[in-house]
Amino acid sequence: MKVFNTLSRQKEEFLPQGDEVKMYVCGITPYDEAHLGHAMSYIIFDVIRRYLQFRGYKVKYVQNITDIDDKIIDRANKLGISTRELAEKFTDSYFADMDALNIGRADIYPRATKEIPKIIEVIQGLIDKGYAYPAQGSAYFRVRNVPDYGKLSHRNLESMMAGMRIEAGEEKEHPTDFVLWKASKPGEPAWESPWGPGRPGWHIECSAMSLKYLGNTLDIHGGGQDLVFPHHENEIAQSESFTGVKPFVKYWLHNGMVQLGEEKMSKSLGNLITIKEALDRYGTDAIRIFALSSHYRSPLTYSEEILEAAEGGVERLLRVISRDDSTGGKGKALDAKPYYNEFVEAMDDDFNTAQAIATLFDLAREINRADESGIDASKAREILKELGGVLGLTFKAAEEPALDVEQFKPIIKFGIAKSGKKKLEYEKVIDSPDAKVHIQFISELRDALRRDKNFQSADEIRAKLAELGIVLEDTPKGTVWKRKR
Ligand SMILES: [Zn+2]
Repeated sequence: MKVFNTLSRQKEEFLPQGDEVKMYVCGITPYDEAHLGHAMSYIIFDVIRRYLQFRGYKVKYVQNITDIDDKIIDRANKLGISTRELAEKFTDSYFADMDALNIGRADIYPRATKEIPKIIEVIQGLIDKGYAYPAQGSAYFRVRNVPDYGKLSHRNLESMMAGMRIEAGEEKEHPTDFVLWKASKPGEPAWESPWGPGRPGWHIECSAMSLKYLGNTLDIHGGGQDLVFPHHENEIAQSESFTGVKPFVKYWLHNGMVQLGEEKMSKSLGNLITIKEALDRYGTDAIRIFALSSHYRSPLTYSEEILEAAEGGVERLLRVISRDDSTGGKGKALDAKPYYNEFVEAMDDDFNTAQAIATLFDLAREINRADESGIDASKAREILKELGGVLGLTFKAAEEPALDVEQFKPIIKFGIAKSGKKKLEYEKVIDSPDAKVHIQFISELRDALRRDKNFQSADEIRAKLAELGIVLEDTPKGTVWKRKR
């Protein structure tokens, strides 16, 4: 197996320290809903874990939760709730998203607020060794004392200095120094420390937690490419300075960012699509196939067309898998071994999931041909299921319970009353047992209301439909409706 290591910028033979692969991936700061960028990253590391297990490794997977942070404090203040309440709410929401995406849980989710003693121990150790210093109730890391600082992001100190300065209120010795312990302002949540009441910095959290749960050297450390600098660079500096053991991490793996058109999907650009929004419109397997359809180190471009194509692909696979295979079996059987080997070869080459998915579709086509010509494909079907499972595909058909026509009638009455139109036309469809006909009629009523500039009633109709699990979408081609999943 070969993996691309950000540290060496090369593909390297994967040789973990022991039978159990120690894997750490930076987790969330729970102050808002998780979005497709999170989905991509956690799907990829989920597949990496699944594949390692498929190849016979045991994996110990740790992912932290940054449950105290400036963003959490700001948001909690705005909402008038405690930081703890806020963090708990969005941590629960995150786990629900991960379960819905069929992302296996990590073995341990340490939370920053529960690991304060270990964090203080590491900071104190760094101070004792001269790698850190307290100042005005805070503590900072002394970057200049680490000669190989910058080795992960391949930057030198001068280039890092550009644009860095000491902000007012910071008691840093040097612009590149970063905070390990942040003195609290009055009214902020605070923990006692040898330097005064405060809270941990973000970078030290990951060093302390990985050290506590996985030891001095990790086999795999993962995260998005946006974390390489400064977060992961700082993790290396802290961990290697504290333990004196190099390397802190054998293989650094970083996934590319999700883009919307030409732009990065980010909170500051306001173009985020939350996981829940995506799950309302697309199935788990379609989102996973989308996330795995380009190489994990490349950027992933979101578009409705691509997700709809993924949805179509899922349906093709599902048809092949759920087909009754009792017809075949007259001595001749489909040999799926070449596809199996191709899949393993692709995944062994730095987790080339795009190639692995292409192989699954090739195999599905081959099974179709076998079924048509009466060749036994039962074993091949099993292999298709097994390999799909390695990519975390669920192969569950989106179950759609039948819609009750009666529940739409009050909305239609409301729409007719507000618009004063369409009554006669409704006579034609009122007895239809097909809910689609009624929904289509509601959608036309809403269009009529909008044309009359009665947006309030139009919005009310949309909200009433949403309560029944129907989502209306305005597209250039007109209004279309979908069922919420
Ligand atoms: Zn981290």
